[in-house]
Amino acid sequence: MTDVDVIIVGAGPTGLMLAAELRLAGARPLVLERRPEQGKTPKAHGLSGQILDLLHHRGLLEQVRGLVTDPVPPHRFPFGGVHVDLTRFDEPPLKALSVRQQSLERLLEEHATGLGAEVRRGHEVVGLRQDDVSVTAEVRGPDGTYEITAPYLVGCDGGRSPVRSMAGIGFPGTTYPEVNRIGQVKIPEGLTVHDNGDIETPELGRIKAGFTRTDTGVFALGSLTPGIVFIQTTEDDPGEIDDDVPMTLAELGDSIRRVLGGDVPLGEPVRLSRYQFSARQAERYREGRILLAGDAAHLLPSTGTAINVGMSDSVNLAWKLAAEIQGRAPEGLLDTYHAERHAAGARALLQSRAQVGLRRGHDEAAEALRAVFQELLDDEQAARRLASHVAGTDTRYPMPGSPHALAGMFVPDLALQTDDGATSVAELLRGARPVLLDLAGRPDLRELAQGRADVHTAKAEDRPADVLLIRPDGYVAWAGDDAEGLRESLATWFGA
Ligand SMILES: Cc1cc2nc3c(=O)[nH]c(=O)nc-3n(C[C@H](O)[C@H](O)[C@H](O)COP(=O)(O)OP(=O)(O)OC[C@H]3O[C@@H](n4cnc5c(N)ncnc54)[C@H](O)[C@@H]3O)c2cc1C
Repeated sequence: MTDVDVIIVGAGPTGLMLAAELRLAGARPLVLERRPEQGKTPKAHGLSGQILDLLHHRGLLEQVRGLVTDPVPPHRFPFGGVHVDLTRFDEPPLKALSVRQQSLERLLEEHATGLGAEVRRGHEVVGLRQDDVSVTAEVRGPDGTYEITAPYLVGCDGGRSPVRSMAGIGFPGTTYPEVNRIGQVKIPEGLTVHDNGDIETPELGRIKAGFTRTDTGVFALGSLTPGIVFIQTTEDDPGEIDDDVPMTLAELGDSIRRVLGGDVPLGEPVRLSRYQFSARQAERYREGRILLAGDAAHLLPSTGTAINVGMSDSVNLAWKLAAEIQGRAPEGLLDTYHAERHAAGARALLQSRAQVGLRRGHDEAAEALRAVFQELLDDEQAARRLASHVAGTDTRYPMPGSPHALAGMFVPDLALQTDDGATSVAELLRGARPVLLDLAGRPDLRELAQGRADVHTAKAEDRPADVLLIRPDGYVAWAGDDAEGLRESLATWFGA
């Protein structure tokens, strides 16, 4: 066996976050990435949901904010064919930042390697075998093929996940036929843009801003940045597209011609991308010593949420895996990864599939469904509920023996006063360690947690419970005031 504890296959956002979290938990990860350098095809442009709170816990949120390309926070987010208006909330129930995936990955890689993780690029995992104590990966690297063995391996290798196939884990679900092609292009000669966003072309005349539906697809037109038009086409395409094949301006032009029946002049492209939606989830997230996370575990048929769910998998998995490797994990701890994150992934799929249902129909009944749904979202409570569902902040993990309303929920970021000054829950979680937070002066309960959690005493204005036991992933394992409950919860999550 090597000195590697966990082989991570794939250096996307999920794999890089996992590597960093494993380092924080004291484990030694090795990331193997088949691409010699970062992919050039633009992918995500937005990061939203609970992962922003988790990045705040790790002290990374300010750095992510530094990568934002459009500082205006989105006031409305699309949900299928309707929009959820967030302008009425002081504290939006769905937070979002416009960040390019490539910039995010660079930041995460710096973070992970800064903590001591190794990332090997140009190393493709081509074979796997496992026994009771280890997993061996066959790797094709720049200097030939070699084998590497470690106690665990995690497939963070994307939607087509070779790891998932090699582990024999099914990936049931649907791949939808529609292909979306997006182009942000400079306004060329021959194209007039009107004040209301409509465009005028020599061949097709005036085309209105927003959606134009035809028999062959949908043409969407918008303009967020002066001098640039945003165009999207949606067409049914029977084949599966390959994310690794970059989209070209000619491909966008051909698609526009098929949808609108004529040419739209296109200037120099600023961004070109395409995507196809699938709704799929791995049957299980663990097969022996092989685990799955991110797109390898789930594909969601809606925009803006996949990275949130994938990176959240990593934060959930890392501390459990590290405890297992370090021999301090209570019985069954690692299995709670599948139990918790498969359920969270299924819930993300639920809202994501609902968006497909709302988006796909173009007859009067479908229009009526969208109109009624949109009307319901005028209701503040409905909008808040839906936004929390999309953000993943309504996820509640089962916490045996802890009946408190906060148990199983993501911890609120309370402002705290300690003997050393002002702090917050997020700051206490920077090191990704379990935290026992005593808000009521309970030395007996603090004593119980010594050695298994970082113990802090503080005062909070709105005290949700006397004492909170918080897991490294920010979820409340236990809240209350009785020693027996705390003792049980400590044993369940952090060992006897
Ligand atoms: C056009 C487009 C727009 C998108 N927009 C958004 C958005 O706005 N918001 C959002 O949240 N999501 C968005 N997504 C989805 C998002 O890009 C994915 O959810 C995200 O990349 C998944 O991260 P991951 O780390 O799980 O997998 P990936 O990013 O797919 O990374 C997997 C890595 O594994 C590597 N790999 C694969 N096989 C092997 C092997 N055998 N050996 C070694 N390495 C291997 C791959 O090269 C790759 O680098 C978009 C996707 C596309 C295509």
